[in-house]
Amino acid sequence: MARSPFLTFLPLFFTLVASINTTTCKTTPSDPTWPSPSTWDVLNSTLDGNLLLPVPPGAVCHPTHPTYNSTLCTEAQLSWSSEFFHQRDPISAEWNNWNNDSCLPDASFPCSAAGYPVYVVNATTREHVKAGVDFARKYNIRLIVKSSGHDYVGRSSGPNSLSIWVHHMKGMQFHATSFQPQNCSFEIGGAAVTAAGGTQMLETYAGLDAFNQTVVGGNGRTVALGGYVTGAGHSILSPHYGLASDQVLEMEIVTPKGEILTLNECQNTDLFWAMRGGGGSTFGIMTSVTMKTYPSPQVMNLDFSILTTASNPYAFDMVAYLLDQYPALAEAGISGYPLILKGTPNPLDGGQTLVSGVAGKVIMLNTTNSSAIMNIFSPIFEHINTTWPAPAFNFTAEPKFYPSFYAWYQENYDSSPVGYENVMGSRLLDEKALSGNTTATKVAFEKFTEGGISTAYLVAGKGVKEAVPRGGSNAVCPAWRKTLVHATANQAFAPVNKTAETDAIAATNGFANALRELSPDMGAYMNEGAGRYEPNWQQSFWGDNYARLLTIKRAIDPDDVLWCTPCVGNENWAEVDNKLCRI
Ligand SMILES: Cc1cc2nc3c(=O)[nH]c(=O)nc-3n(C[C@H](O)[C@H](O)[C@H](O)COP(=O)(O)OP(=O)(O)OC[C@H]3O[C@@H](n4cnc5c(N)ncnc54)[C@H](O)[C@@H]3O)c2cc1C
Repeated sequence: MARSPFLTFLPLFFTLVASINTTTCKTTPSDPTWPSPSTWDVLNSTLDGNLLLPVPPGAVCHPTHPTYNSTLCTEAQLSWSSEFFHQRDPISAEWNNWNNDSCLPDASFPCSAAGYPVYVVNATTREHVKAGVDFARKYNIRLIVKSSGHDYVGRSSGPNSLSIWVHHMKGMQFHATSFQPQNCSFEIGGAAVTAAGGTQMLETYAGLDAFNQTVVGGNGRTVALGGYVTGAGHSILSPHYGLASDQVLEMEIVTPKGEILTLNECQNTDLFWAMRGGGGSTFGIMTSVTMKTYPSPQVMNLDFSILTTASNPYAFDMVAYLLDQYPALAEAGISGYPLILKGTPNPLDGGQTLVSGVAGKVIMLNTTNSSAIMNIFSPIFEHINTTWPAPAFNFTAEPKFYPSFYAWYQENYDSSPVGYENVMGSRLLDEKALSGNTTATKVAFEKFTEGGISTAYLVAGKGVKEAVPRGGSNAVCPAWRKTLVHATANQAFAPVNKTAETDAIAATNGFANALRELSPDMGAYMNEGAGRYEPNWQQSFWGDNYARLLTIKRAIDPDDVLWCTPCVGNENWAEVDNKLCRI
């Protein structure tokens, strides 16, 4: 058959179209396709003047930079370790490495905007969010979402991007008796709260305390609901009520296609499932969330420590013994935040000696009697005191009663400093890992704590296992349902030092490997883990839910308008020299 001229032309035509129209990288300011200033001006008008062109906050310390100001520099240096400094800045992240150390408040290092977003939508309405999403999609610009900038794994940062900053989306509405999900033929009984997309923990607890209610929330003050709820969200209340994702009754989101959708068990059910545990900045931008609330419990807190000299060879026998007690502690209603210490400065003597052991805080709900908690811990202390020969373990135990959860929280929130270079490792541990073989637990935790401090937080168990999310299920990693303890280890490292960074990544990987070997069939917590450095991260963070999440991601965001790492469906792109390119 003779080839028609049309057929001969067709492949050539497609080749040309492919080479002209196939975008291989997201547009950056150095590309001719980057929107002109007047195009950005139009966006700014659409946003009621809420488009920002921010300067890195550390630039005030760099004499060659136009914003140099020695007074502001001193302020920035003094505030750099404060979470509030970074959350109120449109582009700063709490962990310097996620801005690529590109402008620290230290003139001895270089300063450029290379590690930061270029423009920021300071969103206060869903329409602002939509305008930003539509603009990024239309002009093929990398789109990120920042709320507090807390993210341990760098998902709220991105060079050459447009950032939707949801921090100023505030406001809460309390539903005292029931909540009516949109287009459902029924009401959901019980109290609930609808909070705007940038609402933070402290605001949520404080707002609900006025109604004698509380919510399953995190321990940091400025952790925001966006990253927390979409990432699973553990709480000291989770052993009673489940994860934060399990509390969600409804969400409003702006999708990567720019649709404003209400998600619940009656409509947009795939997205409703995915947004509860599938991760932030992946399926859409949450503009509001409605969560179940609970009567605020009374809290009996116990600050305790079991410490010994760093050279005590039995230190981790004691740690393994205590972890072996965790299932019984959980059964008795204990939850909390114990830290494991290995050869680390003694918190009780101002760091003059090095100690190993366990220290932290645990709570019991709805008891006014301190002996209720002491009766549980005294036999444990007694066992430790009589089991191992000298050198001795030293004990402290201070119970304190709080009349409400908010009263407890105000004195016991996570006050850890931020503003340094940091990587983490995480593991979700089930009862088998803690009690199955105490020798294996001892060896694993000793290795996991080689950096000096690790956590063994009692933040899951019965409440998480038995949680029934609306619609029957959600996307949180199935391993959470078997989890009793979330364990983390981290490694800080020197700034602007690739070797130090590589060593820190290798070190945390080594720590986490010890617990991966102890609990090979479990997983890790995406919000507080190794992030992009986690081996087989799709499986670790989402387990068997990954395949369904990927299908939903491809359907809602075929052009990868939202991209982050480690995030569902990010496999088709990679960051190359601050550009995001298809691979
Ligand atoms: C001091 C401290 C204490 C913590 N305590 C706890 C705790 O008790 N329990 C716990 O589970 N975790 C805790 N975390 C971890 C916390 O869950 C994560 O850091 C989480 O990512 C914070 O979310 P964010 O929105 O505040 O942060 P961001 O860094 O602003 O965002 C995190 C991720 O969520 C995305 N995102 C943010 N807002 C939205 C939105 N509205 N819609 C869609 N995507 C969004 C971002 O793009 C990014 O991917 C803590 C972290 C710190 C630093």
